[in-house]
Order: sequence, then structure tokens, then C-alpha cells
Amino acid sequence: MWSDLESVGQARSGGYRRFAWTAEDHTLREWFAGECARRGLELTTDRVGNQWGWWWDGPGTVDDAVAAGRRAVVTGSHLDSVPDGGAFDGPLGVVSALAAVDRLREAGVRPQVPVAVTNFVDEEGARFGIACAGSRVLTGQLDPARALALTDADGTTYAEALRAAGRDPDDLGPDPQTLARVGAFVELHVEQGRALVDLGAPVAVASDIWPHGRWRFDFPGEANHAGTTRLQDRRDAMLGYADLVLGARHVATQRGCVATVGKVHVTPGGVNAIPSHVTGWLDARGADEEQVVATVAELTARGEEMGATVTRESWTPTTRFDQGLSERLRRVLDRDAEVSAPVLGTGAGHDAGILATAGVPSTMLFVRNPTGVSHSPAEHAEAADCHAGVAALADCLRDLTTGGATTGDGPQDGAA
Ligand SMILES: [Zn+2]
Repeated sequence: MWSDLESVGQARSGGYRRFAWTAEDHTLREWFAGECARRGLELTTDRVGNQWGWWWDGPGTVDDAVAAGRRAVVTGSHLDSVPDGGAFDGPLGVVSALAAVDRLREAGVRPQVPVAVTNFVDEEGARFGIACAGSRVLTGQLDPARALALTDADGTTYAEALRAAGRDPDDLGPDPQTLARVGAFVELHVEQGRALVDLGAPVAVASDIWPHGRWRFDFPGEANHAGTTRLQDRRDAMLGYADLVLGARHVATQRGCVATVGKVHVTPGGVNAIPSHVTGWLDARGADEEQVVATVAELTARGEEMGATVTRESWTPTTRFDQGLSERLRRVLDRDAEVSAPVLGTGAGHDAGILATAGVPSTMLFVRNPTGVSHSPAEHAEAADCHAGVAALADCLRDLTTGGATTGDGPQDGAA
């Protein structure tokens, strides 16, 4: 599976450019559908375009099982990437999910509840600017009208991109029916940091996701000649932007958060032209929600003083994963491990966090990343650790679908 994906959307940097509803995304979705078909998993696509491959050998249909209180245990991740992203962020979770299903079947495991493997669409938000758009619309956390009006760098709207991909934009909306099938969600993901390297463990269980958000700063100016316009006559939009970049570093340091300005648009964008407009995007996160809010408030005030209009594009407060579920998975991993599985928080957003916010018992497994780097071609995971991740995920799925989950409401009982 890994070698199938290796060349799809690979850029010259060695990283990947796999953006939602592009030709690369289409190839990846076809691949996912093929892997589901090969395993006899029943493929469904929800109103947003997220793909689900269902494994249910029990009596009746998946919906019959759900109606009887046997809600599904779901695992998976996403296949899209940031610009020049690594190979593992997303695909490791999808491939591991499929491999875990294979492992369970080889072991003759008969789940008492349906199992599904998912591919969430548009997790990174690289094309239209909103992260986890697929799971947000699914769970009603992003208004479909707002999503449809989003534009990419070429001015293509989300609606147009959906149409070009053969989907009807009118279909886009929350899908409570699909969501009601999910009793628990476990997302395996490459670690985006070096905690597991320091702890000497291949796999960890997640505790929470730091609060995080994105803000757009629009700085106005006046275009003019870089040679003939006196300094005192200029309205240079770049100066406010420069202040934002330095301010972000300064304020975040003081408040113990992280803040990044990683994207900028300059108009007109000529070497010899004074910028008439600069748009910069701020990303702010941290373990302490109050400090993140204060950091952004300070930078907003500072930007407005420089004439900027500040627009909040997204905001997600601290997301706590289901404690019972996380604890249960930790116990499963501890059963035959020499070292106890670490429990880690993360500064990265994930579909599992969006589902957790929607009330779906959710958690994550992290696989060691020796470089600690992510959203870059340097992101890595050793094959042995990836296999350890698959084994851990399979053990967790086995426990959730067979151990103590055969009565009452299914996995939610054990996870409560
Ligand atoms: Zn990811």
C-alpha cells in the first residue's frame, strides 16, 4: 500500500502536494475505494465526500446493527497534504487502518460491532484555508454555505471544485445519519514532535489537542514607484506586516505559546513597487487556552494600530479526547509492552478532535517520528515503528469490538 501511494502528488522537493478535490486527490480517493473493494469493505461516501469502508459480518446490515445498539468502531485519517508535506501525515493512519483490519481478519477476529476505515477529505485546509473542513461540515461545525463560498489561490470556489470533481455542491451538508453509526473513533497519526524519541517508545495514546486558530491580517497601503517616491510620502503595507511577524514571535515567547506567520500575499508583488496591500496569516496555539487568546488579542490590537483589518478564519478551543477511551487503549498497549505507553497532548489539529467536539468518543495513537519534523519532506517514521503502530491499532480495535463491548450500547459502554 505504501509503495502504491509513494508517487502520487510528489513534488520536486520530495514532499507532497495533495490538495482537496484536485487530480491528485482523485487518484488517492480511487486508491482508497480500490483497497476497500479488494477487502470486500462496503464503501459509502457521506454528504461531504468523506469515504467510509465498512466491515460487518454480523446479522443484517450496518444500519441494523446500529439500530440494535451496536455502533461502529471507526479508524482512519486523511490522504491530503499541506504544500510539500511529508509522506506520513495522514496516509500512515489510513494505511495502518487497512492493515489493522487485515491483521484482525488473519487472526480470525469476529467483531461484535461494525468496523469502518475512513478517509476524511480536506483535512489540511491547504487549498481553501479551513482545516478539517471534511469533518467540520460532517458534524455541523462548518456551515456548508460558508464552505461553498471559499476560494483557492486561483479564485476557484469550493462549489466549483466539487462540481469539477463530479459532486453536486447542493449535497454538501452535515450528515447525522453517517455520524450516528460511529460509536468510537481512533485515529492513528505520525507524531508531530519528538516526545516519543525522548521517551524511547514507539507508540503513544493522545490526551488532548491544544487550542488553535487562524487569523487573516489585511494591511492596506498605496502602490507607487520604489525609486521616485520619498520615504515620508509612502503608505507601505509591508511595514505593518513586518511588525506582525516580529510581534508574533515576541508575544508568543512571553506568553508561552507558539505563533507563526507562514503565508503572505503581496500586491502588486513587484520588486520595484511599494506594496499596496499585504495579507498575512497568523496561526496561534498553546497548551494554555487563556494565553493563546491573549496572544492573539495583543497581536490584533497591534495590527489594527498599523491599519490592519483582522479576520478570524478558524478557532478551536482545547479538545479533550474521551478519557475512558484513551485509558482503555493505554491499558491494551501496556498488556505486552515493556514500557508503559506514554499519553501525549498535541499542538496539531485533527479530524479526531472535530469528532470529539461533536460528542463522538474519540482518541488517537501517535507513532514515533525520529526527526520530530512534520509538514515537511523531512517527516519520517521507521518501518518497525509503523508496524508497531499497526499492531497497536489492531489490538485496540480487537479490544473495542470484542472485549466487553458485546452488550448494551457497544463500545461507548467500555469507554464511558
Ligand atoms: Zn494529519
